[in-house]
Amino acid sequence: QQRQFSAELSLPAQTLDGHRIHLYLNAGLLSGLSTDMAEGADGIGLYRTEIPFMLHQRFPSEVEQVHVYKQVLSAARDRPVVMRTLDVGGDKPLPYFPINEDNPFLGWRGIRLSLDHPELFLMQLRAMLTANADSAQLQILLPMVSNLDEIDRTLLYLEQAFSEITEELDRSIPKPKIGVMLEVPSLLFQLEDVAKRVDFVSVGSNDLTQYLLAVDRNNPSVSPLFDSFHPGVLRALKWTITDCNRYQLDASICGELAGEPMGALLLVAMGYQKLSMNQGSIARINYLLRRIDKQSLELLLDKALTLSNGEQVRLLLNEYLNEHD
Ligand code: PEP
Ligand code: MG
Repeated sequence: QQRQFSAELSLPAQTLDGHRIHLYLNAGLLSGLSTDMAEGADGIGLYRTEIPFMLHQRFPSEVEQVHVYKQVLSAARDRPVVMRTLDVGGDKPLPYFPINEDNPFLGWRGIRLSLDHPELFLMQLRAMLTANADSAQLQILLPMVSNLDEIDRTLLYLEQAFSEITEELDRSIPKPKIGVMLEVPSLLFQLEDVAKRVDFVSVGSNDLTQYLLAVDRNNPSVSPLFDSFHPGVLRALKWTITDCNRYQLDASICGELAGEPMGALLLVAMGYQKLSMNQGSIARINYLLRRIDKQSLELLLDKALTLSNGEQVRLLLNEYLNEHD
């Protein structure tokens, strides 16, 4: 069936009633970015820079980072690339930078670690800007932001890196758009302030689900409770896109939910127009979106939001999929 999905990959993901949905790729390994990488993808919606860091025996140098980032930008062939700054800690340890904490998911991870190590953070920002000096594809995304102060401090480091590289190269360089991950619930209620500071947001539904439901995303004992279809999570996702539209904040979603057929349908109904997913999901989601109309999805979403648990939501969506797919 994958072959059947792939046959339509060159056609844009557009619903029957004319809503164009942009599909992007989640990536972290260069090997995943083969030459046909972006067939059907409008760009890279999430490049997880911690993956190359995890494959090293020590922190990669600035030169090594420039080399990797350039390859990623060139694999995307003129399409936009959203690179996320280092998101280690939590479930992603660096072998050469051990962190011992009782609650790693509530601890030193993502932007917190970068802001506590400005030398590492500046090196990464400088490497990204250097790699992008001739391409203008780069957008920079910040992981695990939980307050506005973290954004403001990062913007100062970015300004510093930008003027350093401009001076070193002795020419003007493109200024990347900057965005934050929405994966800590507090930030969902500060979107007006977020919109004043950054160009875009990207919803991380994996961590957002984890933090909304207080369920460790990797603990098998509680895995039945980890459910992005929980009506509370769905309401948070809908709230988010509605507020982003209100404050004219460009929004995408890059958690696993966007690559699941049932998840993609609900997200499109809510108003998300940019979905980022693993390579294996792009053809499937494109195929599906070309066969449904958004108006009927909106009715489906209204109904889903009245249900009392994720199981019921899934049953409802399954029924819809059987009829439309
Ligand atoms: C997320 O949390 O949804 C996300 C995309 O980031 P990661 O899975 O890398 O934590
Ligand atoms: Mg995350």
